[in-house]
Amino acid sequence: MHIIQVAIECTPIIKVGGLGDMVSGLSRALAHHHHVEIIIPYYSLIPLPLPTKILKKTLFSYSFLGKQKVAAVSYEYDGCTLTCLELHSQHELFATSSVYTPDDALRFCAFSVAATAYIQQLESVDIVHIHDWHVGLIAGLLKSHAIRTGKPSPTCILTIHNFAYQGECSTQILASSDILAPCLQAYQMQHSPQSSVLLQGAVTHADHITTVSPSYAREILQNHSSKDVDQAIKNKSQVFSGILNGIDQQVWNPATDSALKTNYDSSLLNQPQEFLAKKRENKTHLYERLHISAPKEQPCLCVISRLEEQKGLTFMKLAILHAMEHGYTFVLIGTSGNPNIQQQFVNIQTSVAHSPNIRLVLSYDETLARLLYAAADMICIPSLFEPCGLTQLIAMRYGTVPIVRATGGLADTVKPLVQGFTFSQIKTHKEFYNTLSLALHVYQQNPEWWFQLIKNGMHASFDAASMADRYLDIYRKAQAKL
Ligand code: ADP
Repeated sequence: MHIIQVAIECTPIIKVGGLGDMVSGLSRALAHHHHVEIIIPYYSLIPLPLPTKILKKTLFSYSFLGKQKVAAVSYEYDGCTLTCLELHSQHELFATSSVYTPDDALRFCAFSVAATAYIQQLESVDIVHIHDWHVGLIAGLLKSHAIRTGKPSPTCILTIHNFAYQGECSTQILASSDILAPCLQAYQMQHSPQSSVLLQGAVTHADHITTVSPSYAREILQNHSSKDVDQAIKNKSQVFSGILNGIDQQVWNPATDSALKTNYDSSLLNQPQEFLAKKRENKTHLYERLHISAPKEQPCLCVISRLEEQKGLTFMKLAILHAMEHGYTFVLIGTSGNPNIQQQFVNIQTSVAHSPNIRLVLSYDETLARLLYAAADMICIPSLFEPCGLTQLIAMRYGTVPIVRATGGLADTVKPLVQGFTFSQIKTHKEFYNTLSLALHVYQQNPEWWFQLIKNGMHASFDAASMADRYLDIYRKAQAKL
């Protein structure tokens, strides 16, 4: 099959969260048996040249607020082709200091138009797989092209990585492309057609829609808001599936991860003392790096997360208090796009700067995050909602026990008291506090059970290859219009 993936993040070239990880993991897994090309925007944030071979460079034009020039530079990337679109005549749109900005609808629509023009030049494309609202315009543009030319368009698959972000914008932005009026209509809000929702149109036009876990798919369908997008997705419930994300087992591998002080893997699980000694060496290294002086016999609880309301910020702060009260280590690494939230965490960071056991690292640091997955004993993911979540999957692979809120993909991947600990209530904090206390108790009083949790987590396999198999099924069914 000739499969195109279009997204605005792709690890390791440009990543903010799990979207980039999923796009590259899925593409690499599919590329074992299929021809896969990933299309992303060229941001000036991406350092050039990429450390990989250029396969081709093409110049062409697209129509968005007039005729615009673009270069497509295709690189070899782990069995896939990675194509960066450099919007030459609108280059300011991607000359930003961060991936996400307040003008995202305009920037990502410009990219979507350029990406569609590029796809239309390619031969025999079977699948165009678009990720999230950012590139939702592509679904309507492909349909417009098919209507204009009378030729069938490639099968279009949409994956919703987070239903909370839908891409509301002025309809004028979409109308600046050459989308046909009947196709544009699917994006427009019924009661205020001058406004559009990119995800809504994409849902309507796509041949199949997926989201990143079965529970989250159910949560989306049970959503009772009065928004048009909810109705759009209910109308497509026959072609809407929840497919669990998997992690790329080569990229996330404690046996080979160069960020670790000492590597280890699940083959050591039958020698518990040696296994735990390896984790302890990583812990020692982490404590030296962060000047933590707390005893290493006590557990280390970590948080590795974007700092946004969705992620359960109040619970994170409560976990800090719990760690202070019980004298174990707490390390958070995270950043926020919201200056108020960032400031709140800077304030906490300053107040615990000299604490022996609490550290907050408020930056994006892949190397430190990897060391933390290996060094920590537990990871806390108290999300209010979570489409899938990758950090619990990575943590389990690194032998770190998850403590999660039972929602969306977290509920689908962490079996309570088998692989980790779960809580549900968000209106009161008692259950969460008790869950932390239970985890601490098992760690301190029942090492055999604790080790069994580690083992069960490491043996659970949420890999990108299984995810790719599920997507191939969907691609085939959607192509056959089953
Ligand atoms: P989301 O996509 O909602 O942010 P996920 O759990 O799906 O959440 O994915 C988060 C990804 O981002 C993981 O790969 C995690 O390791 C990484 N990550 C999050 N925050 C940081 C950070 N501050 N530094 C390094 N990596 C981070």
